[in-house]
Amino acid sequence: MTSSVDVLIIGAGPVGLFLANECARRSLRWRIVEQRPRQSEHSKALAVMPRTLEIFDMAGIVAPFLEAANRVTSVAVVTHGHRLAQIPFAPPDTPYPFVAMVPQDVTEALLVQALRSRGGAVEYETSFVSASQDDAGVDVVLDHRGTQSTVRAAFVVGCDGAHSAVRHELGLPFEGAPYDATFMLADIDTNDALRGDELQLCPHEDGPLAIFPMSSRRRRIVATVRKGDGDAPTLEHVRSVLAQRAPQGPRGAVAELEQLFSDPAPAGSAHAGRADLRRR
Ligand SMILES: Cc1cc2nc3c(=O)[nH]c(=O)nc-3n(C[C@H](O)[C@H](O)[C@H](O)COP(=O)(O)OP(=O)(O)OC[C@H]3O[C@@H](n4cnc5c(N)ncnc54)[C@H](O)[C@@H]3O)c2cc1C
Repeated sequence: MTSSVDVLIIGAGPVGLFLANECARRSLRWRIVEQRPRQSEHSKALAVMPRTLEIFDMAGIVAPFLEAANRVTSVAVVTHGHRLAQIPFAPPDTPYPFVAMVPQDVTEALLVQALRSRGGAVEYETSFVSASQDDAGVDVVLDHRGTQSTVRAAFVVGCDGAHSAVRHELGLPFEGAPYDATFMLADIDTNDALRGDELQLCPHEDGPLAIFPMSSRRRRIVATVRKGDGDAPTLEHVRSVLAQRAPQGPRGAVAELEQLFSDPAPAGSAHAGRADLRRR
């Protein structure tokens, strides 16, 4: 059976979900399909910039993001025991003069919630298979748990991420290049409340390390690691990178990180590596 829509959105990451909200707001006929059974639980992208908040405001969805966000208003550059710079982040021409730290799984949950409040829903376990285009529209074959169907759409929007099947179907090249470096990323909890409004950048000869405050009790640590260090650095490796690169000094990042690592949190509460980014 063939159904017909104005816009067919492939992929329910942040881009597809935002587009679905915009289609709903404009009372278009639309569908959004996602191959996974549910939204991702990974924290991935954190920083929502002021202009994005302004766009969320125009779309009528900014309030829950402001509620969920940890607000960052300054960046400190700290190395070898010295604060080289303390840069306020306060753009004057926006109602949102801060970086809003919102983990991507929260962003996606809020966008799904906004979509539901507009009467829409993501169709999970539904994959884009193929498409053929004529002068008036596009016929798309979808697969839902092994059953295929065809959708006729005026527009098909590939929001299906870095390895986009839609892009491959169109024969479009991937423009750009992967990063040369390998990154270590850890989301770490502490039992102690820490200053939550300052991002710390720690330049180092082996590569930079950055500490993002996700809340007063949670930090994201990102650092480059040598190629060949493996896919998932151990906690020991994280410690050694921190010990080498994070600055010493009472007000520096190491002081905070020592607090994080000496924290008597339950075993397994600190996770390192690209493979384990789940929030709890
Ligand atoms: C650890 C980590 C940290 C990151 N940190 C940052 C950061 O700090 N800042 C930043 O800007 N970005 C960051 N990113 C990248 C960010 O997560 C992506 O840029 C973002 O998810 C892209 O959103 P998207 O909606 O375009 O695609 P995606 O989030 O990739 O969503 C695409 C969706 O399409 C679905 N899909 C794929 N193929 C099909 C198909 N054939 N049929 C149906 N559905 C399909 C996928 O299942 C997926 O849910 C990070 C990523 C990771 C992994």
